[in-house]
Amino acid sequence: MVKALATAKRARELRRAYVLMRRRFGHLHWWPGETPFEVCVGAILTQNTAWSNVERAIANLKAAGALEADKLYALPESQLAALIRPAGYFNVKARRLRAFLRVLVEEFGGDLARLFAGDTATVRGRLLDISGIGPETADSMLLYAGSHHSFVVDAYTRRIFSRHGWAPEDATYEELQRRCVSALSRTPLRARLDYWQDYHAQLVRTGNRFCRNREPRCAECPLRPLLPPKSRLFSALPFPMYQRASIK
Ligand code: SF4
Repeated sequence: MVKALATAKRARELRRAYVLMRRRFGHLHWWPGETPFEVCVGAILTQNTAWSNVERAIANLKAAGALEADKLYALPESQLAALIRPAGYFNVKARRLRAFLRVLVEEFGGDLARLFAGDTATVRGRLLDISGIGPETADSMLLYAGSHHSFVVDAYTRRIFSRHGWAPEDATYEELQRRCVSALSRTPLRARLDYWQDYHAQLVRTGNRFCRNREPRCAECPLRPLLPPKSRLFSALPFPMYQRASIK
């Protein structure tokens, strides 16, 4: 009974969080790719780097006329690595991109619609079998390029959820995802894809602008009304007094 009440409260707060973030930022129209293929490439390039670096790498690929599956796959790995250099870890990411392209081109004829065909669990498994594609990358591809209902969890989600008491700090990816899915599935299916896409984007924006690792800016953050009461009390204090008093 107590657990059910806590789950219902968390679900209400998670739905309210979207209202608050959306009110502040408007609809964010994420992911900024011109094609589903560009979204998939961006999902691999964005691992461990800021989006502005990904944009520079993608601009290089476009300038080289290589942002198509066959053309990208035909590039030697060293040339691919040079083009995506601005995204950082470029040798690793070139290898990961090629692993993805190998499956896409050799097993699915370069056709993303074929790669994404099937139920979400099957397609997710297909992506996770590719070397270098973990849950966050797979879910980003599924949600933003494949129109699959697969909620994306990232480091910002983890931090915000932990600070608000919506999940333990050491919750697994799957646990965080389950909590989001169970709280955010009331929206009718036809609107849910957009809702989940924008929800993740709003968490990223909130995390990036306010929920910083070392210096959270709670006083200005749209999610401040949803802080646990003790944290809310302290959130107007200057950092690090605030951190010592509330956020672990
Ligand atoms: S900055 Fe503060 S109010 Fe905003 S999400 Fe982080 S912990 Fe919550």
